[in-house]
Amino acid sequence: MVSPRPAVSALPVYRPGRNPADLAREIGVPRAVKLASNEVAFPPLPAVVAAVTAAVGESNRYPDNGAAVLTTALAQRYGVDPGQVATGCGAVTLLQQVAQAYSEPGTSMVFAWRSFEMYPLLAQVAGADAVQVSLTAGAEGGVADTHDLDALLAAIDERTRVVLVCNPNNPTGTAVRRAELERFLDAVPASTLVVLDEAYREFVTDPDVPDGVVLMRGRPNVAVLRTFSKAWGLAGLRVGYLLAEDPAVAEAVRKTHVPFSVSMVAQAAAVAALASEDEVRRRVAEVTAERTRLTAALRERGHVLADSQANFVWLPVGERTAALAAALEARAVITRPFAGEGLRVTVGTPEEDDVFLEALDAVAPEVLGVGSPA
Ligand SMILES: *Cc1c(COP(=O)(O)O)cnc(C)c1O
Repeated sequence: MVSPRPAVSALPVYRPGRNPADLAREIGVPRAVKLASNEVAFPPLPAVVAAVTAAVGESNRYPDNGAAVLTTALAQRYGVDPGQVATGCGAVTLLQQVAQAYSEPGTSMVFAWRSFEMYPLLAQVAGADAVQVSLTAGAEGGVADTHDLDALLAAIDERTRVVLVCNPNNPTGTAVRRAELERFLDAVPASTLVVLDEAYREFVTDPDVPDGVVLMRGRPNVAVLRTFSKAWGLAGLRVGYLLAEDPAVAEAVRKTHVPFSVSMVAQAAAVAALASEDEVRRRVAEVTAERTRLTAALRERGHVLADSQANFVWLPVGERTAALAAALEARAVITRPFAGEGLRVTVGTPEEDDVFLEALDAVAPEVLGVGSPA
């Protein structure tokens, strides 16, 4: 019998979230609301649809392996050299490339926890130790808050090749501020790569939350990870990018990519999305306004939650998380539970969020013992 590597055997089996159409059919309602994956609710931009349609017409050919047009557009957009850019089949694939390029058995990968669920799996597959550093407990009853950068720094030793800082943090939505992040970056050893995972950067409204692309300037061990999946609305097309201050970092990441993994369609879509940035910004502004409304509505109902800088909110309901998610699902609302910790709810359209709030009002008294509006 053939056996995979023990690290791979030990990986959890991926369980995708409920499909809204299946759920709707099962419980006999016209439609279910999916607030589980932090996508934006808007349909693809018209320019993206046009670019994708044109690209499909050439799909008998391989895509440009170096994604030259997209790379140039990104370099212009961020004021960096094309050599500082690596594109990938989603930011997750770029993280995998970072792990492949920098991690191996005997090294460690340091990151906060709870944070993005892929991080421990990446370390595991690379054979590196995953060093998980607890988030600081926030105010009011121990809401899991944001990164404990001092503890993160203390966890770095000579074995640490990679530190991941998710800012804003998935799933808590909280963000570290400029002064503390600068202090942290200045203290990390030069031989440790810091990856600032800014998948949700476009939704940041607090001016004191720093832009990683600015912070990486003059810091050759810092790279910034971004994606077209969230604010840019291209989750289904799989394209992300990494910007590194040191071109050698971007080169190492490019070297580990699976050839042609950013499809022709994805490249064309990303270029068109970048050219439609004004429209993307208008959409993002709608999402952040709705985030404010949703947060206020939840607080009115007695829920304790941190201000989110991303396109989701985090309800730290602890042991009642799984029951709450199940009760909401029975009312056609799919959210993302982290059992024993909390529920992550994507900011949807106002209509979707109203469906969520109504469902929550119906189930909260029983499941949570709080939160029926007066
Ligand atoms: C969604 C997400 C990503 C990127 O996802 P891709 O779709 O692979 O680009 C990366 N990091 C975090 C923290 C995310 O939430």
